[in-house]
Amino acid sequence: MEILNGKEVSQNVKLAIKSQVDKLKEKGIFPKLVTISVQRDGAFSIYIKNKKKACDEVGIICENISLGFQTSQEELIELIEKLNRKDDVHGILLQSPVPEHIDINKAFSTISPSKDVDGFNPVNIGKLMLGQETFIPCTAKGIIRLLEYYNIEIEGKHAVIIGRSNIVGKPVMKCLLDKNATVTICHSKTKDLSKYTKSADILVVATGQEGLIKEDMVKKDSVVIDVGINFTQEGKLVGDVDFENVSRKVSYITPVPGGVGPMTVAMLLENVIIAVKNLEDPK
Ligand code: NDP
Repeated sequence: MEILNGKEVSQNVKLAIKSQVDKLKEKGIFPKLVTISVQRDGAFSIYIKNKKKACDEVGIICENISLGFQTSQEELIELIEKLNRKDDVHGILLQSPVPEHIDINKAFSTISPSKDVDGFNPVNIGKLMLGQETFIPCTAKGIIRLLEYYNIEIEGKHAVIIGRSNIVGKPVMKCLLDKNATVTICHSKTKDLSKYTKSADILVVATGQEGLIKEDMVKKDSVVIDVGINFTQEGKLVGDVDFENVSRKVSYITPVPGGVGPMTVAMLLENVIIAVKNLEDPK
């Protein structure tokens, strides 16, 4: 069994990005990402902190805006529109989750498609579905990059994804399909989940259900990608897969932490650089 070391691979990606940022700076261009969170206590989540830290490492300017829980839909939209108009802002990211009174899809739609580094604007999702050049959502992009780094063949394989969210499951589906996998998507209403998981050559688990995937649910020598982020009662970060037992049976597996998470962040940085370059050289 080999560990798919997202932490290590993401470091390589970050080195390449840093040299691109240095070159842009020499030309007087200073890549900038603005993140927006709407949180109960106005604090910055661990996700935002990780993104800021990664930006700092490669020299991308990262401004984190934390809005209070009472922020209205209109105020959020106004802020996004203001950032859309700012020439020095290259990427805008709205951190989910947001409070229930905010329509996150409306907010995603407001982010200018050219600054939508998460790839969640309907224009960019549409382009992804049509196979046109666009921002590929970071987690899906990170998973493909990880598989490619380890030379894991995707074409012709049966890929099973558990989770059908717009943020993870659906983009992963499209990216694996583009690499010629045969893709099955499962969700909470799927009957007999293990019937599907046992037939997966590549299993991607993105449910947020700690320990959902057990050893007897996976195929021998398969590849397991654990996207889940869960915190145990003791505060330990774990994925959706019973890593200790499943790892004995499969050929490759991502750890949590240190697997998909750092790849997601690295792909965000890459998307910010793409946003800068698109601005410099509009097609
Ligand atoms: P969502 O809650 O939006 O979606 C979860 C999906 O899992 C849904 O499609 C749901 O089905 C399905 N599901 C839930 N329980 C089960 C079950 N028992 N059996 C089968 N399917 C189930 O979550 P996200 O997609 O946003 O995120 C998924 C996980 O990935 C979370 O833990 C999140 O924190 C993590 N994450 C990690 C990232 C990383 O970089 N590592 C990035 C983004 C997310 P249904 O549609 O029927 O409700």
